[in-house]
Amino acid sequence: MPAIKATRDLDKQPTNQNQMAASKQEASLPCRKRKKAISLLIETRVWIKEDKTLYTFTKLSCVRMALLFKSFPLRLVAISDTHSKHHSLKLPKGDVLIHAGDVSLRGTKEEIVDFLQWFSKQNFRYKIFVAGNHDFYLEKTSHIEIQKIIPENIIYLKDSGTEINGIRFWGSPVTPWFFNWAFNRKRGEQIRKHWELIPPDTNVLITHGPVFGFLDSLSNEQHVGCQDLLRTVLLIKPKVHICGHIHESYGSLQRSGIHFINACQVNEHYDLIHKPIVIDV
Ligand SMILES: [Zn+2]
Repeated sequence: MPAIKATRDLDKQPTNQNQMAASKQEASLPCRKRKKAISLLIETRVWIKEDKTLYTFTKLSCVRMALLFKSFPLRLVAISDTHSKHHSLKLPKGDVLIHAGDVSLRGTKEEIVDFLQWFSKQNFRYKIFVAGNHDFYLEKTSHIEIQKIIPENIIYLKDSGTEINGIRFWGSPVTPWFFNWAFNRKRGEQIRKHWELIPPDTNVLITHGPVFGFLDSLSNEQHVGCQDLLRTVLLIKPKVHICGHIHESYGSLQRSGIHFINACQVNEHYDLIHKPIVIDV
């Protein structure tokens, strides 16, 4: 049985095989964590004395690597309100692409199918979207018909949730009533029923509309967000709340330990001028 020792010698390079495996895994990781991964990779390498060219991993190092990779944050890239202008978007790299609704302008099936085909081709491990008040086809059409047009690699949330790497997502298309657009509900009891469905352990909440008071101002500075949603969000305290809907209030801010994001890609004139918002969770 050859004696083995762990080495921290940074001069000794891993085999091509290990190098390739490492870089493959690292490719999807957020940049600021990559150096940590590389240093741990080197640290946990085991050098077998009899053959100085051979490097391998002990079971322990594999477990450590697995735990490390699991502990990496997910990089979310948030967009919203693209209103059929998705083909002109430039997206940064990330793990999860999230669209918070209003994928279309007039809400036709053709517009929504075009969006879904584009969305499914984007280079992200996960792609999540909710509908918005413009997306009429997704409100009028049965669940079975909608499933037929949604590609398999897309997660569509409609008062429902999903879990990725232990991070719990919940999405809803509902917004307070405004001239009977899609997924409109009256403020108060009617809309509250939807917010009551949000699980208390939600980490990332995606709603088309903003909460009242944060990132919900029109150009006349009037706040039009949902008071009931604000109450629910402050109670649940997700790490991140992603919304859109109010084009004038693009941006992000932190309040009460919650990262609020309004990811509208167009302004009030429907010009595509805003950038996707990136956040690690
Ligand atoms: Zn919009």
